Amino acid sequence: MKPRRSRHALIPILGALFCVLCAATHAQEKSAASPKKIAIRAGRLIDGKSDTPISNALILVEGDQIKSVTSGGSAPSGYELIDLSKATVLPGFMDVHTHVLLNGDITSEDYDEQLLKQSIPYRAILAARNARIALEDGFTTIRDVETEGAMYADVDVKTAILRGEVPGPRMQVATRAMAPTGMYPLLGYSWELRVPTGVQTVDGVDAARKAVREQVSYGADWIKYYSDRRYHFGEDGVLYSMVNFTDDEAKAIVDETHRLGKKVAAHCIGSDGIAAALRAGVDTIEHGDGFTDALLDEAARKGVYWVPTITVGAYVAPGRGGNWGRMVDLERTAFQKALKKNIKIALGTDAGGFDWKQLNEAEEFVYYANYGMTPMQAIRAGTVVPAELLGWSDKVGTIEANKWADIVAVGGDPLKDITELKRVKFVMKGGIVYKNDLR
Ligand SMILES: [Zn+2]
Repeated sequence: MKPRRSRHALIPILGALFCVLCAATHAQEKSAASPKKIAIRAGRLIDGKSDTPISNALILVEGDQIKSVTSGGSAPSGYELIDLSKATVLPGFMDVHTHVLLNGDITSEDYDEQLLKQSIPYRAILAARNARIALEDGFTTIRDVETEGAMYADVDVKTAILRGEVPGPRMQVATRAMAPTGMYPLLGYSWELRVPTGVQTVDGVDAARKAVREQVSYGADWIKYYSDRRYHFGEDGVLYSMVNFTDDEAKAIVDETHRLGKKVAAHCIGSDGIAAALRAGVDTIEHGDGFTDALLDEAARKGVYWVPTITVGAYVAPGRGGNWGRMVDLERTAFQKALKKNIKIALGTDAGGFDWKQLNEAEEFVYYANYGMTPMQAIRAGTVVPAELLGWSDKVGTIEANKWADIVAVGGDPLKDITELKRVKFVMKGGIVYKNDLR
């Protein structure tokens, strides 16, 4: 891989494509330049704060922000009225574990083909499409946790969305992720071949600190590293794994990241990987199938977030075979224990681990409800809690004055039928309407 060259090659191609595809978005962004005033009549408002919905609420939006939320009242003059009186209105959804630069990797062949046969510019074009899919499904904010070999292209996708060149969610990005030599694909090729790798290869404490500095300098909001691999069940029913980094290396990654004011996400599936990540002081545990009682207690004590990504686990299990089905069952049990222990669970799907065109990220809400959360708890796991995880509680996650106007609506009542969240009919992000099937 030649990072600089790949990155530069991306820019003209993306520029040309975005201009052609997104004239409509340009027009919308321009009209938002003079603060637009919109009044939304919400038949039922789940604002993310209250335990019960507010009937017949009125949300006033000015420019990209919410100005006020009241129960009842009528739209003042000068406001354009959007009638969602027959719908349930909610804060924009948030998915804090995505890969916009990946399009499904049930098998290693699926994964290798994308890294070997698709250029980074091509993958970035698909990433722009995936970002649009997320937004249209109601996900107005995502945390993208590594590009899987596509270098810093997530920063470019984030920038293009921020500038209004393409429609998509607000993003925090992790860029390349890290694993030591020989512990992350592509693997198994002849030693005579130089093949790309899905992560930045990092060995040793000094290299770990340097890699953090490098990724942050190119735009990483988060540092992601792979804590473990090779998951296997013991006779005691515990899921064990091989830990990738030495404790000194992992602690160097976390320490340097925190020193630079950023946060760390760790991929950990087995109990050994989770234990190592908690020892290192990470901020979020990704996947976490192998959480034991003791590890859940430690995560609770340290205030670490768990991002379970149940959707991807259940989706890839049949195709991967082996232990993967049993891991889904194990994670369900861990999830139910975590609920009792008040672990902070934030919604993450691992979209990209499944094809963006095949599954709706909102499937994750359905799993949480089926696994024991109340529908309201599940909604909070996909709105308020991830807002805290991202450090954006003052901007997103609830519908209240002075927050960004990230608002979605569904036709039915998700408190009665959680699958309603898979049928989003209205999407506003930053005061701009990207979808309205309720007209
Ligand atoms: Zn992932």
